[in-house]
Amino acid sequence: MHTYTEPPVEVEDLAVTYGRVTALAGLSLRIEAGTVMGVLGPNGAGKTTLIKVLSTLLRPSRGTARVMGHDVVRDPLPVRLAIGLAGQYAAVDPELTGRENLEMVGRLYRLPRAEARRRAGEVLERFDLTAAADRRAGTYSGGMRRRLDLAASLTGRPPVLLLDEPTTGLDPRSRQELWAIVDELRTEGTTVLLTTQYLEEADRLAQRIAVVDAGTVIAEGAPAELKAGVGTDILRVRLAEPGTLTAATPLLADLAAAGTAVLSDPSNSELTVRVARPDASVEALRRLDDGGLRVATIQVTQPSLDDVFLTLTGRTATTEESR
Ligand code: ATP
Repeated sequence: MHTYTEPPVEVEDLAVTYGRVTALAGLSLRIEAGTVMGVLGPNGAGKTTLIKVLSTLLRPSRGTARVMGHDVVRDPLPVRLAIGLAGQYAAVDPELTGRENLEMVGRLYRLPRAEARRRAGEVLERFDLTAAADRRAGTYSGGMRRRLDLAASLTGRPPVLLLDEPTTGLDPRSRQELWAIVDELRTEGTTVLLTTQYLEEADRLAQRIAVVDAGTVIAEGAPAELKAGVGTDILRVRLAEPGTLTAATPLLADLAAAGTAVLSDPSNSELTVRVARPDASVEALRRLDDGGLRVATIQVTQPSLDDVFLTLTGRTATTEESR
């Protein structure tokens, strides 16, 4: 555990412009020690720019950012030693073996040679890469390369980990593995900032989520709070007999979240309800059954980033390209 009492990451009114493009427009956030902050937003929202400022690769035009109390502009060196950085574009050297990659990073963190070697062995073991350790990283699968990249970012045991869309492009199994590792690191006391385009991922990993749009935080809270704001889950019921739609609608009316109504679609005998309670599907089934109405299919889906966006901004989370 790190015995630092201020928030390990503090960002105040950060602005960054690239020529005429405003990437960050007064972004503020703080991350409490030993927690995961999910920074959620569509392409072009400014997530990578935030990571670049925090990792001292980019100077902000306004505002401040501090990592473990060190200002990223005035004090870049201690900031670099305090962070691990891993992301969408795995920064491993394909010509070196997994082990050589890690030893090199250890040296960059200024570990003595023997210590770098020992640490490399340790993280290879932890990330299940021991068997492949002496193969060129260029021969690794995408998931293995991402694990090696994450392993590299942890070689110096940094208290703060910055993960830029760490699971984009990974298959479901590699994604699960990476999630398990992030959980484990947090339990050990690491503070994590993780950017993602997936509400599901932020929901699964983060204690708090900051939704970012056009370079600012437009909402911040615990995952449950944000999802509750969307009217929570969406229930879809398809009835077995088309003529029963009108009878079914009032039975489900009070399951609808405040300010919403049951939508009925006669073309496929389907009812859609934004529901505010977790047991809504069970309750809906019970009521329809009591009413003598037969159900063909029933489905509950969680709100997506698009739903969160639509609720917060009145528009969908379109990517920058399609804007
Ligand atoms: P992605 O999910 O695609 O990585 P992001 O949320 O990380 O998106 P950023 O990469 O931070 O977004 O980009 C924010 C804005 O700044 C975008 O409009 C982008 O086009 C622009 N931008 C980023 N880097 C540059 C650059 N080097 N030159 C000009 N504009 C840039």
